[in-house]
Amino acid sequence: MKAVVKRKSAKGMEFVEVPTPKIGLRDVLIKVSIASICGTDVHIYDWSRWAQQRFIPPRIIGHEFVGIVTKIGEEVTRVKIGNRVSAESHLYCGHCYQCQNGSIEVCQNFKLLGVDHDGTFAEFLVLPEHVLWKNDPNIPDEWATIQEPFGNAVDTVLSEDISAKTVLILGAGPIGLFATGIAKASGASLIILSDPNDYRLNIGKIMGADITANPKKQDIVKLVLEATKNNGVDVVLEFSGSNQALNQGLKVITPGGRLSLLGIYERRVNIDFNKDVIFKKLRIYGITGRKVFSTWYKTSRFLSSGLVDVSPIITHQFPLKDYEKGMKLMRDGKCGKVILTVGE
Ligand code: NAD
Ligand code: ZN
Repeated sequence: MKAVVKRKSAKGMEFVEVPTPKIGLRDVLIKVSIASICGTDVHIYDWSRWAQQRFIPPRIIGHEFVGIVTKIGEEVTRVKIGNRVSAESHLYCGHCYQCQNGSIEVCQNFKLLGVDHDGTFAEFLVLPEHVLWKNDPNIPDEWATIQEPFGNAVDTVLSEDISAKTVLILGAGPIGLFATGIAKASGASLIILSDPNDYRLNIGKIMGADITANPKKQDIVKLVLEATKNNGVDVVLEFSGSNQALNQGLKVITPGGRLSLLGIYERRVNIDFNKDVIFKKLRIYGITGRKVFSTWYKTSRFLSSGLVDVSPIITHQFPLKDYEKGMKLMRDGKCGKVILTVGE
């Protein structure tokens, strides 16, 4: 089969022929229909500092997908040949302390699809059946592939109730844009979206942002205070991974407000903990992965019901062999979500 493989501990990847993987007793073979590119995949391609510390070649990359079950192991009971599936990318163990206490997303033994386990940028993929999610028939393949990052946005937006709240969203990458649509659909009364990329801010307007702001051109703190009668916002959602943006968020969050953090910082962050967190009595949530599988139910309902229309965010589609074109657009910030057609 054809696959995108990271073979060397250096910049780059290869689109090559590799053996089709074999399945174990509780595994499933999936023919991938569509995969989508995450920033993590670009980090692995570019061999960033994070990738050098975390990734061990050789490995087929990718962790977002939709595909069809084509073969099942003898002990598989939950899925059948022909089912259209996606999967939780945190391949959890199911028996550690966290898995048994309702925090599967931080399983002590989890393996990350496309990093610790061969990934989705391939014609076929093998997964254990317990991580599979059977897709709602109303969700097209082009949307089903993005459920994994959409779930990150669901858990960030909905770590607490957001209805009739004022919200600042920092970062309008694909996940910040999903979050904008989710916040709108969930009844946020004012959504301010900040990003230095005007192309992405324009998608944000379509997704429901009431005010879009470019921190290169505007004073975000002043703008938010003016828009909220000097109260600041009830909720700040951080999807930028920028220390500067985080500090803007901390300055404008109203005392007693809520901060949810998904963005990942390249370095240790510098914040005024006493003034901006403790004396403001903030509630802070760190978000990683998705709740298994309650977030998948929410994601599926947002998408299948039409509550959130993600078509403005899915800006580009390429055949798998042209994955580098998608990665270039992502580095240049000239896209929303980029998806890759793998099978027919
Ligand atoms: P992305 O890189 O496409 O988006 C980040 C956006 O932030 C970009 O559009 C960028 O222009 C913007 N930005 C940069 N500086 C800014 C500033 N000062 N103010 C406002 N915006 C600024 O990433 P994505 O795929 O949308 O993911 C969002 C973040 O979530 C990333 O940091 C990613 O690493 C992280 N992430 C975390 C998890 C997790 O489990 N915690 C999972 C997936 C992604
Ligand atoms: Zn576990």
